[in-house]
Amino acid sequence: MKEINFTPKLTGLFGHPVSENPTVLMIESAFRSLKLDNWRYITLDVPADNLEQAIDSIRLFKMRGVHLTIPHKVQAMKHVDVITKEAEMIGAINTIVNDNGKLTGYNTDGKGFMTSLQKDAKIVELKSKKAMILGSGGAARAIAVELAIEGINSLTIVNRTEKRGLDLINDLQRFDDLNLNFRLWDHEIDINDIDILIQATSIGLYPNKDIPKIKYDQMTQNMLACDLIPNPAVTPFLKECESNHARLLDGLGMLVYQGAIAFELWTKRSPSANVMKRSLETFFKNN
Ligand code: NDP
Repeated sequence: MKEINFTPKLTGLFGHPVSENPTVLMIESAFRSLKLDNWRYITLDVPADNLEQAIDSIRLFKMRGVHLTIPHKVQAMKHVDVITKEAEMIGAINTIVNDNGKLTGYNTDGKGFMTSLQKDAKIVELKSKKAMILGSGGAARAIAVELAIEGINSLTIVNRTEKRGLDLINDLQRFDDLNLNFRLWDHEIDINDIDILIQATSIGLYPNKDIPKIKYDQMTQNMLACDLIPNPAVTPFLKECESNHARLLDGLGMLVYQGAIAFELWTKRSPSANVMKRSLETFFKNN
C-alpha cells in the first residue's frame, strides 16, 4: 500500500516587504515540471525584528530551506550553523539549507550571474578578461567574489560612496593574482579596455529611466555589457549600450540561475532553467 503523507516538503522566501516578489512562480513551476508534487514554496513576510524566530522555525517546521531577500541577507548569517566560504567572503547569504536541523547559509547570487555569463553570454574563459563593476552593494560584492574565485585578470570597482567601494576592494585583497582598481564615481567614467562591464546599481530600476554616467562612446562590439536589473530585461542602460555596439546580458538569467542553484541544493534535482525563465517572463509581461 502506498504510504500516506500529507506533510509537504517546505521551502520558501523570507523578506520584508516581500508580497510582490515573484520567486514563488519560478520555483513552483520547476516543482511541477519535475513532478515534485509534495514540494511547496511559500512567500513569508518576516520583519527584521523577527528574523531569528523565523530562522528557528525552519527547524521547527522541518523546512528544507529558504531564500532570503531584503533586508535579511546580512543579519541571517548570525543565525545559521555553517556559512560557505564564498558567502563568508561576500558577507551575505541568500539561501539556507536545512540538513536535519543543521542550517547552512549559501550565497547563490554571484554563482547565478556566473552561470548566466557562461550559458547566456557564452563567456567561459576569464583569466584574460578585465571586468568593471558599477556599484558596491550586495549584488556587486557577490559577483566580485565569484569573478575573483574564477581567476579574472582584473577588476575595477566604481562606486559613488568611497568607503563602501574601498571596503569591497579591501575584502578582495586576499586574491593575490587579481589586479584591483577603485574609481570614485564623481565624473563620467572611462571604460577603455574593459571586456565585461557590470551595472550593479539600482540606476534605471523601473520607473526610473536614468543611465549610469560612463563614457559610452568608448564601447566596442567586443565588450559585454551586463545589467543586473531583471525587469524590464532591456533596461535604459542596456539600450544605450546596444546603440554603442556592445553585446548585452540582462539580469533575468542571474535571477533564474540563482534560483535554480538554490532549488538544486534543496531538492538535489536539476530544474529546467527554461521553465523557470518562462514563468518569470510571463509574469513580467503581464504585470
Ligand atoms: P544595494 O542597495 O546593496 O547596493 C546599491 C548600489 O547601487 C550601491 O553601490 C549604491 O552606491 C549604488 N547606487 C544606487 N543608486 C545610485 C546612484 N544614483 N548613483 C550611483 N550609484 C548608485 O543593492 P543590491 O546590490 O542588492 O542591488 C543592486 C541592483 O542589482 C538592483 O538593481 C537589484 O535589482 C539588482 N539585483 C539583481 C539580482 C538578480 O538576480 N538579477 C539579484 C540582486 C540584485 P552607494 O554605495 O554610493 O550608495
